[in-house]
Amino acid sequence: MLNSTFAKKNPKLFYLLYRKTFFHPNAEPNACHLFLSDLEKQKKLLGIATMNIDFLHQKAGSKSVHEYWGNMRMNHCSLCNKSFDWDIAQQNDIPLCDLCGHVILPDFVLRNLGTYQDNIRDGSNILSKADLMIIAGTKNSWRNFPESTPKVIVNLELPEINESNSLFIQENIAKVFTDVKKVLIHTPIV
Ligand SMILES: [Zn+2]
Repeated sequence: MLNSTFAKKNPKLFYLLYRKTFFHPNAEPNACHLFLSDLEKQKKLLGIATMNIDFLHQKAGSKSVHEYWGNMRMNHCSLCNKSFDWDIAQQNDIPLCDLCGHVILPDFVLRNLGTYQDNIRDGSNILSKADLMIIAGTKNSWRNFPESTPKVIVNLELPEINESNSLFIQENIAKVFTDVKKVLIHTPIV
């Protein structure tokens, strides 16, 4: 489904599946998104490197967000390349370009899941500078992170690593950060 050839040939089926799976433009940020946004406002967070495309970090107010696959607000006409925001997919069954009449598709599909090298470079840059990483909801990619950097890993599945400088929390992400916020109300970060 996440393939430009499939989507161009079967736009109706593509949009049916897209709306059932990825496309939830009215989704709201959870406690984790909001916690990270607060940390950034307090200048305690260098930034976020994410493989999510849901735009929820920006909705939560985060500014330094490096999206390796872009986000769902990035859409283009599959023929003339005119740019569209995601409201076009909220309004129409099969969103069509007003210039040429061809189907409009999300960039991550048009690019066949190609990553954005600039975003990866900027994301890697903040990861290399971090003195602590919060790794939330990612199963395996912690392997790519610097081993010497302490990590807080929040995931429902425990990772198969044994790093003495890391804390593993096996729990739902939103619950963890809801609890963290309750604690911090009484004990602010210093
Ligand atoms: Zn067009």
